Amino acid sequence: MTTLDMFAAGDTGAERARLDALHALLHRYAHHYYVLDAPLVPDAEYDRLFRELQALESAHPDWVTLDSPTQRVGAAPLEQFASVRHSVPMLSIRTETDTESSGAEAFDARIRRELELEQGAAPVDYVAELKFDGLAINLRYENGVLVQAATRGDGEYGEEVTQNIRTIGQIPLRLAVEPGTAPAVLEVRGEVYMRRDDFEALNARQRERGEKTFVNPRNAAAGAVRQLDPAIAAQRPLSFFAYGLGEVQPSAVAQGWSSHMAVLQALKAWGFPVAEQVELAQGAAQLIAYHQRMGQARDRLPFDIDGVVYKVNNRALQLRLGFVSREPRWAVAHKYPAQEQLTTVLAIDVQVGRTGKLTPVAKLAPVFVGGVTVTNATLHNEAEALRKDVRVGDTVIVRRAGDVIPEVVGVVLETAGDAALRERAAAFSMPQQCPVCGSKAVREEEEVDYRCSGGLFCSAQRKQALLHFAQRRAVEIEGLGDKLVDQLVDAEVIRTLPDLYRLRLEQLANLERMAEKSAHNLLEALEKSKQTSLPRFLFGLGIRHVGEATAKALARHFGTLESIMQAPLEALLEVNDVGPIVALSLRTFFDQAHNVEVVRELRALGIHWSETAVDPGAPKPLAGKTLVLTGTLPTLSRDAATALIEAAGGKVAGSVSKKTSYVLAGTEAGSKLAKAEELGVAVLDEQALLELLK
Ligand code: NAD
Repeated sequence: MTTLDMFAAGDTGAERARLDALHALLHRYAHHYYVLDAPLVPDAEYDRLFRELQALESAHPDWVTLDSPTQRVGAAPLEQFASVRHSVPMLSIRTETDTESSGAEAFDARIRRELELEQGAAPVDYVAELKFDGLAINLRYENGVLVQAATRGDGEYGEEVTQNIRTIGQIPLRLAVEPGTAPAVLEVRGEVYMRRDDFEALNARQRERGEKTFVNPRNAAAGAVRQLDPAIAAQRPLSFFAYGLGEVQPSAVAQGWSSHMAVLQALKAWGFPVAEQVELAQGAAQLIAYHQRMGQARDRLPFDIDGVVYKVNNRALQLRLGFVSREPRWAVAHKYPAQEQLTTVLAIDVQVGRTGKLTPVAKLAPVFVGGVTVTNATLHNEAEALRKDVRVGDTVIVRRAGDVIPEVVGVVLETAGDAALRERAAAFSMPQQCPVCGSKAVREEEEVDYRCSGGLFCSAQRKQALLHFAQRRAVEIEGLGDKLVDQLVDAEVIRTLPDLYRLRLEQLANLERMAEKSAHNLLEALEKSKQTSLPRFLFGLGIRHVGEATAKALARHFGTLESIMQAPLEALLEVNDVGPIVALSLRTFFDQAHNVEVVRELRALGIHWSETAVDPGAPKPLAGKTLVLTGTLPTLSRDAATALIEAAGGKVAGSVSKKTSYVLAGTEAGSKLAKAEELGVAVLDEQALLELLK
């Protein structure tokens, strides 16, 4: 044996071992994905291994076995569901993995070769469609009535999920046809999916309840369809698109459908949703154009797609082209860059939002996902970071879809070696101090988010704090709006709230697009704002939970700012309408020297008020009452209604509970109204509120 032979033999041994390893891995991943609806790795990773196996198999055709992952569709059905034998197998679609235009060219060339078309022959007619990222369903109608819905399963046997599918409003339970004219049997194939906004809302609900979030819309949809309890399935908002046929009696030919487009039109006429992006395309050039156009539209679509699908339009040609083991020869999927990828966590930073919310953000090794390079992904909040147990050094799945900010959907420990697992970094923990300004970070009871208590002191919250202070209901600085605040802060003319009152004309004149007259006006408005009232000033400080009504109550009770700043918790609690959360928030604020300093500076710069400016005699018809707002009121804005309620001594809360006195409901009132009715809480409309206030 020559050295070369030995090398080749050794190589084959290694390849064989790799093939076995790939079988095992892919089977395992497919089981988690198809059967448990809980993928272990992103599709891009699965596809990469799948292609590696395909390459090995094409180098060694005799190694291909019937149970190879490349030879099978999906996975065997779950036993908990009744099994359905598909009268026409439900196949997969061949994938063009290169996301460039050559994918369309390769497909067209193959079709032309298989149809033995001459060089100069006319272009082939195709239908180009979106490739929805959901799960395939077969809907069986007998004499126009939905009798059965089944998943694809392994292509031959699927799971009976009729009950769950019936809960999807978009799926007709009966075909829209004249009685007696429906085909004896019509099987419609299509994709059940979850819209991106429905998915985000579902996850937000899960997060609020401290429950597990779903990895992506496909998974949430698959989990809902394969839910054993139809009541739970009914709560998951699902949608549907039809894209093809299964068994039809009398046959499709007898129905007069000679093309795929004709089928889609008939399905639409019968009441099925068919995507509006379906188009006829001639030859490779038009397929490429479609791929590019949809690629650009992808982020704006309300649902996930992972590519487009090209299908030969003529059904007679489809028949001639036929099938290979798991795929029709007449269709191909042409992908887009994956929306989920694997990468490594380099660090976990905590960012501070405009309103002081602290958000853990994973810094990532740069990764190309959803068409852009991502280096940051949100972990939402402490509870979620801990539930997902994301740590520095971990391999994670990042998802970026549409205009939603990239997020870490989970950690992949599968691919980490034992040593890596033993040496994992410590679990994430939220800092006790604001990483920007060092103020205390607080998380209130029943809240998921930590917040910086630095308020106007914290530079991350500077813009928000300035706008809050300057608003009409606070100290009112006329003309100091969004744009100007952005300009002043970005140019670093203003770093802290007191800097406002140190502004000089030259500084303003140096700002871009600032006319001399506007500069004068601003200085005048600032001067004017110095004369204010204690409640306005207190409200203007932006202390969490201290709204206008609370500020007034505090001013009325204590009389001077000094005594409010020094009041211990117990004293604060004596104030009408001040509960433990508000009291604690006040204390936390005034216990920090830098906040006290800001107040002192403002007063030194001339802000003043007469400490008896509060009107003590106003009637308080809503004293001690808690109201919850929902929906749109005919005339009052949310802020205006809140101000009226607070001025009348009432409180406005965010959610309905037994303690709620009234729910103020407008049009398009949502779940809060339902909750009020459930708990027997009185419901008011705007008119009734105004009556009460009289
Ligand atoms: P596929 O899902 O890529 O393609 C076939 C499916 O496309 C059909 O069953 C149908 O549901 C769907 N489809 C969407 N729009 C369509 C349209 N307009 N016309 C026709 N069909 C349309 O192929 P597959 O073999 O079913 O599954 C492979 C996919 O599953 C890959 O994307 C793979 O990454 C993923 N997967 C992932 C894991 C994992 O661990 N992450 C495991 C297994 C499979």
